[in-house]
Amino acid sequence: MPRFILHSDLNNFYASVECLYNPELRNKAVAVVGDEEKRHGIVLAKNYIAKKYGVKTGDTVWEAKQKCLEELVCVTANFDRYYFVSKLVKDMYRTYTDKVESFGIDEAWLDVSDRVKTFDEAYALAEKIRVRVIEEFGLTVSIGVSYNKIFAKLGSDLKKPNAVTTITPDNYQTVVWSLPCEELLYVGRATKLKLNKMGIRTIGDLANTDVDILRSVLGKNGETLHTFANGLDGTPVSKYDSPEQVKSIGNSTTCPRDLKTNEEVKAVIMVLAESVARRLREKGLWCSTVSLGIKTNDLQSNEVSKKIDNPTNLASVIAKECYSLFNFDWSQTIRAVGVRASGLSDQPVVQYNFFQNEQTNIKKEKFEKEIDKLRSRYGYNIIKRGSVCALKLDDINPENITHTIHPVSYFKDGNQTE
Ligand SMILES: [Mg+2]
Repeated sequence: MPRFILHSDLNNFYASVECLYNPELRNKAVAVVGDEEKRHGIVLAKNYIAKKYGVKTGDTVWEAKQKCLEELVCVTANFDRYYFVSKLVKDMYRTYTDKVESFGIDEAWLDVSDRVKTFDEAYALAEKIRVRVIEEFGLTVSIGVSYNKIFAKLGSDLKKPNAVTTITPDNYQTVVWSLPCEELLYVGRATKLKLNKMGIRTIGDLANTDVDILRSVLGKNGETLHTFANGLDGTPVSKYDSPEQVKSIGNSTTCPRDLKTNEEVKAVIMVLAESVARRLREKGLWCSTVSLGIKTNDLQSNEVSKKIDNPTNLASVIAKECYSLFNFDWSQTIRAVGVRASGLSDQPVVQYNFFQNEQTNIKKEKFEKEIDKLRSRYGYNIIKRGSVCALKLDDINPENITHTIHPVSYFKDGNQTE
């Protein structure tokens, strides 16, 4: 059965949403920034006008203003607005298929194989969605149409904003193979360097390299990327991220060395909680139960759970609650630690003491989201916990062993997303 998959990417999402709420910003250079009051704000997103001035995500507000000759309008990020609009758009996607898989707040795959029979029909449907997004939400999308998720995603990057690109089994060698290999999803900076060292520069080079050679250098990922480059990715588009479908989000790691103290366990829990919280935020979910899993050096495993008062998507809260579950006599050392969030909902349940904490929580959430952004742009290690470094546990990179919304059939190891 041929598949027809769209990948829809809202263009300059944060900045575009800000322009919806403040139409007077439309013709100005706009940057969405972290907390500007503190003068430590960095640019999280920008519109096309700011982009023309050379403003980049990750610039400090000061740098960005220099580039725009002070004409830049800086808006503090309003994540609640972005989640709200994102949900509206994704609900619209769901009128076409129940297979809508989020990839971050502004992107989603749609499997429309049940609705269309040819690429012409798939293209026409993508066009219809593109027009609806403009007419109903005042936003633009770029959409990639293809027969697998990887090429659909690639297609949505090729023409923007406000465009549809089709990559078919007949044209992919012409359209895709000449592109640099880092255009392929999951070819990050480190992988690109390794590939370039092997003389692999384009996706075509990657596709035509012997899979055994790739495997010897990159392990299982080498094989996966070879599959991707040849258009053979068969992973399904998951159904919409409803809390019923995503039962829990967890992450565990085998430590670089056995842990011997409470402090070390606390630091590892924090690293894992950060990754779990980021994934909750990506899916727009809150958790009301946290679990801590421990594996000792004689490979005994144990998991304990607790319900928490107010649903959260904050790493600091998840870490604190998990650590409160830690009770260990140290007759053994600890080899692996896991943190899991369950009892998921797509609404934070408001309780009385929620209001007291609301301001602090909003601040914490903004702070953690800035870290998310920095890491997604510069890699996980751009920012590290002091405690983790001090204890020499900073080899742990939870993002290496797991990926939130990666096709489930790849990179399964260490990833307990259910
Ligand atoms: Mg986008």
